[in-house]
Amino acid sequence: KPGLVVQGIDRLTGRTSGSTVHALSDISLAVARGEVLGLVGESGCGKSTLGRIISGIYGPSEGKVQLAGKSVATDRGGSIDKLTTKVQMIHQDPFASLNPRMKVGETIAEGPRVHGLLKSGEARARVRALLEQVGLEGAYADRLPHQFSGGQRQRIAVARALAMEPELLVLDEAVASLDVSIQAQVLNLFMALRRELNLTAVFISHDLSVVRHVCDRVAIMYLGRIVELASAETLYAAPQHPYTKALFASIPTLGTGRAAFQPIKGEIPSPLNPPGGCAFHPRCPMAGPRCKVELPVLKPTLDNGSMVACHLNDGGTGAPEKAEAA
Ligand code: SF4
Ligand code: MG
Repeated sequence: KPGLVVQGIDRLTGRTSGSTVHALSDISLAVARGEVLGLVGESGCGKSTLGRIISGIYGPSEGKVQLAGKSVATDRGGSIDKLTTKVQMIHQDPFASLNPRMKVGETIAEGPRVHGLLKSGEARARVRALLEQVGLEGAYADRLPHQFSGGQRQRIAVARALAMEPELLVLDEAVASLDVSIQAQVLNLFMALRRELNLTAVFISHDLSVVRHVCDRVAIMYLGRIVELASAETLYAAPQHPYTKALFASIPTLGTGRAAFQPIKGEIPSPLNPPGGCAFHPRCPMAGPRCKVELPVLKPTLDNGSMVACHLNDGGTGAPEKAEAA
């Protein structure tokens, strides 16, 4: 069975002014069953929008999303609700996503009950097992969300997602609001669960140091496009795209040392008025004249099996003299 296939996704959003924004352009990728793919980029790059399209929450303007060969995001037919139970999303703020007046056991059992995955009489035992699976005590089922810490609440959110027996998890900044030590515990839990359950997952994060521990492959996004797609091992050893390199250099703990810490120069351009050619060119230290006029296509690199969208991977950025003459 194939895992997740995302093909040619565009998402246009209309604004009140009548202008159209490309929130996502030409996104294609595949995630094998049992694989964890990271989606990384600065805020506004479209990674959360892509996560919602993959989850079937938003529809794309163009393209398709399939899970195990069935449409998730373009199918407007009767099967979509049933299918989307196969994709579960875990969000950044576990408190906001838990009903404060509902015992957590009821919250965990609610989805499977509604979708007929639980027979009456087996809910309690199932909830206990799920709580234990995420490292909590079964007896916690009778408590309210406010009685838990942030890390425990995120474990409850994971239990609620697992209760739906998902084929795909989409985690959107799932540990971003937790303290670093708690982040590590929740990430370790996630790693254990993915092995145990052979989970397929899309792990969305702005944080390359978090993604490193949990992802097999990583897609780097910039202004609605994938600019690099590589195995985690290759990406962390030898990032290729100038934006990926700049992201690494902007993280003190991952750069080559504190002295090398370099925030990425310039602002993220407005998606309302993106730069022509390569959208990264106003911020790119390697930009040449070709970069201002020609969109680089995501292509395999010759040497390391990564996919990179940069003219440096494809004959160069153009000699300044030639381009100015042209
Ligand atoms: Fe930089 Fe040009 Fe590559 Fe874009 S295409 S990342 S501007 S070198
Ligand atoms: Mg986001």
